Amino acid sequence: MIMLDTKQLKALFEREYGREPGEIHCFFAPGRVNLIGEHIDYNGGYVFPVAITLGIYSALRWRQDRLVRLKSTNMALEVALDLNRPLEYCERDGWGNYPKGMIQYLLAGGQKLQGCDILFSGNLPDGTGLSSSAAMLVLTGFMLKYASGKTTVDRPALARLSQKVENEFVKVNCGIMDQFAVAMGRRDCAILLNCQTLEYKYIPFVLGEYSLVIMNTNKKRELTESRYNQRRTEAEQALTLLRQGRSLDNLCQASLDDVARLAADDVLRRRARHAVTEQSRVLKAADLLEQGDITGFGRLMIESHASMKNDYEISGPELDAIVDHALATPGCIGARMTGGGFGGCAIALVETARLESFQAAVAAGYQKSTSRTAAFYVAGISDGVNPL
Ligand code: ADP
Ligand code: MG
Repeated sequence: MIMLDTKQLKALFEREYGREPGEIHCFFAPGRVNLIGEHIDYNGGYVFPVAITLGIYSALRWRQDRLVRLKSTNMALEVALDLNRPLEYCERDGWGNYPKGMIQYLLAGGQKLQGCDILFSGNLPDGTGLSSSAAMLVLTGFMLKYASGKTTVDRPALARLSQKVENEFVKVNCGIMDQFAVAMGRRDCAILLNCQTLEYKYIPFVLGEYSLVIMNTNKKRELTESRYNQRRTEAEQALTLLRQGRSLDNLCQASLDDVARLAADDVLRRRARHAVTEQSRVLKAADLLEQGDITGFGRLMIESHASMKNDYEISGPELDAIVDHALATPGCIGARMTGGGFGGCAIALVETARLESFQAAVAAGYQKSTSRTAAFYVAGISDGVNPL
C-alpha cells in the first residue's frame, strides 16, 4: 500500500505538469467500509461506516487561464476542460466525469473558479465497493473550495452535493452514506448515521490487539443494480403489507412480531426480518463498541453475514467462501461481507499478531474454493477528507 507525503506527491505532480511558479496544494480523501448495517439506509435505519486509511491523494496548482487539466497516476486517460464552455457528462471522458461533474455543480452554485492542473493518485482499489467514486467527488469539491481560500468547508453540505453529482451527473443511484463517511470520517471512530435525517454520532472504534482486514474477492459486482432495485421493491412491498395492521414510518421500525405476520410470503418475511434484526445489530454494535467490547462486536458481524446470506440474499459464493475461510482461521473474531453485495469486499477482525498466517490461510482456501485470487488490505480508521 503506497502512502504519500506532500513531498512525494508534489514530486509526482511536477513530473506530470512541470516545475512552475505557484503553490501546489495537496489533499487526501479516504475510502470507506460499512462495519455493519447493510441495505438499511433506504429502510429508514442507521448505518455504521468508517473512513479508512486507504484513499485518494490529489494535488492542484492554479493556472492563469480557464483550462482545467486532469490526470491520475491510476488511469491512462487524461482529460482537459474549458471552463468557458458548458460541462456535460461525456462517455469519452471516463473517470474525468467525476471531477468534471463536481466542477460543473460548484460553478452552478455560484463558485468562482479559474483554470488549474490537478493530479489524482490513489491506493484504493476502484470498483470494489470501497467508495473510490465518493472519494473522487468529495476530494474534488473539498480541494477546489479549500484551495480557493474557503478553509472552513461545510462537510455535510459537501457530502450532499457529492451525492447529487453522483446521482444526477454520473447517474448512479446511490445513498448518502459513502459521501458522508468520506467527508465526515473521524480517526478511530465509526459514524452511527441515519441516512434519511443525517443525524449522526461518533462511536469510538478502537481495535486494540486486532486489525481491520479488508478482503477483496476480486469478483466484480455484477447485476448489482437490478438486484439492488429488486431488494428495494421487496422491502417496500413488505412495508405496505405491515402497514395494513398498524402505522409504521419505515421497515426498520417494525418488530419481530410484525415480521411474523408476513408468514404467507416467505421471501418478504425474510427481507423484513433482515431489516429488523440488522438494525438492532447496528444499535447493539454501537453500544458494545462504546463499552470497548470488540469481541462482542465480532459476534454481531457473524450474525450479520448470516442474515445477508439467508434472509436478504445479497451475498454470493465468493463472499460466502472468503467469510467462511476467514472465520475458520485462528485469530479471526468476526467477518462479514460489506457494501451492496453480490461481489466486492468482505471485512474481518483479526488478531494483529496473526495477520500474516491469516492472510496466507484465507488466500489459499479461497483460491481452492473459487479458483480466484483474493487481495487483502489492512486499514486504519481515518479522518475524513483533509489537506495533506
Ligand atoms: P467504487 O466507488 O465502489 O470504488 P465505482 O464504480 O462507483 O466503484 O467508482 C469507480 C470509478 O471511480 C472508477 O471507474 C474511476 O472512474 C473513478 N476512480 C476511482 N479511483 C480513481 C483514481 N485514483 N483516479 C481516477 N479515477 C478514479
Ligand atoms: Mg462508488
